[in-house]
Amino acid sequence: MSRHDVIVVGLGAMGSAALYQLAKRGVGVLGIDRFAPPHEQGSSHGDTRVTRLAIGEGAHYTPLVKRSHEIWHDIERETGADLLTQCGELIISSKNRKSSIHVEGFFQNTVDAAHAHGVAHELLDASQIRTRYPQFNIRDDEIGYFEAEAGFVRPEACIDAELTLARKHGAEIRTGETVLGLDAGRNGVTVKTDHRTYQADRLIVAAGAWLPKLLGHDFDRLFKIYRQVLCWFAVEGDVAAYEPERFPVFIWELPVSPQGIYGFPAIDGALKVATEQYAATTSPEHVDRSVSTEEVENMHRNYIAPYLKGVTSNCVKAKACLYTVTPDAGFILDTLPSSERVIVASCCSGHGFKHSAAVGEVLADKAENRAGSLDSALFRLGRFSV
Ligand SMILES: Cc1cc2nc3c(=O)[nH]c(=O)nc-3n(C[C@H](O)[C@H](O)[C@H](O)COP(=O)(O)OP(=O)(O)OC[C@H]3O[C@@H](n4cnc5c(N)ncnc54)[C@H](O)[C@@H]3O)c2cc1C
Repeated sequence: MSRHDVIVVGLGAMGSAALYQLAKRGVGVLGIDRFAPPHEQGSSHGDTRVTRLAIGEGAHYTPLVKRSHEIWHDIERETGADLLTQCGELIISSKNRKSSIHVEGFFQNTVDAAHAHGVAHELLDASQIRTRYPQFNIRDDEIGYFEAEAGFVRPEACIDAELTLARKHGAEIRTGETVLGLDAGRNGVTVKTDHRTYQADRLIVAAGAWLPKLLGHDFDRLFKIYRQVLCWFAVEGDVAAYEPERFPVFIWELPVSPQGIYGFPAIDGALKVATEQYAATTSPEHVDRSVSTEEVENMHRNYIAPYLKGVTSNCVKAKACLYTVTPDAGFILDTLPSSERVIVASCCSGHGFKHSAAVGEVLADKAENRAGSLDSALFRLGRFSV
């Protein structure tokens, strides 16, 4: 049985970031994943993720995303990888909106977070949005929040770069190996996989949508897993008008739909757009990972054609992806009540990727029992009854 300082279970967004940080510090760390990340079975695929500094889900997240941007810039310099594109972000909302993104008051929370953290931004009325971005069909009562430093991050490239660097710094990585159970005792943690058994002083569990099942009954009740659909539609005519130099990432609290939409500038001639659904729960074992023609047609008819000019119904790619959502749509970054040796990271609720590089640092600090610079009290498990 091999013994490690720390074992990281799950090498997606959060686990790969933690593995990299620990290996860079010289900690003896083993990472285990049931697949070979980056992969398309969990929550971290689909080419792009929105990143923004003023966080409508809570101003306390801003230090995490700011630190993540620094880390990704450092990795870009070290590896030459293309991870972060700061093309700006436009949030569109109105008093008459029917949808909200992740939390009530998302638009105003974003403005408040920008003020609290000194994030440069502009507030635009409908005519200013139309002048700057004629690609959108804007109603007269709609307003915009524009943040120039926001943009998108490439999830697969981030995971790949962090795992490559972790390996370079001495991390051991086992892929295609599934953790079946864990047992924390006085002298360490035992991790049993479908291949063998390992021991460690500390364990980080970053298993995404599989986390509830791995941790057992109470966690099964705490998290809800939702299937989300992403579609890439071809742009006709002036494709350059939708490219990152002239088009931002956008989040739109729609006036006529209970679902909002968000989207990205065109990459390779196609624009990625998604809605968010919270009507039906699923599980990683049972979810349908294919996307039907009907879903694609519905997306274009209801969420593209009325809002974006010149985006065709030619869907070049579609993917399903999983949200793991807590009751307050916030993160969990904490040790288990039953053992200080086991650290749980559930940082999804549909908005985790932009924070993942810094979450890796927080997890490494916890695993090393170091007092980190971030006040992680707001991410405690104890706010729920587990
Ligand atoms: C459609 C969609 C859109 C999103 N958009 C945004 C966005 O625009 N901006 C943003 O910031 N965030 C966004 N998010 C959220 C963000 O992508 C997630 O917060 C993040 O990817 C979660 O990472 P994770 O490490 O928790 O999970 P994952 O990346 O899924 O990693 C979990 C890993 O654990 C492994 N694993 C599970 N069980 C075991 C086991 N028993 N043994 C071994 N390995 C195991 C899995 O194989 C997997 O690799 C979005 C999410 C989705 C699904």
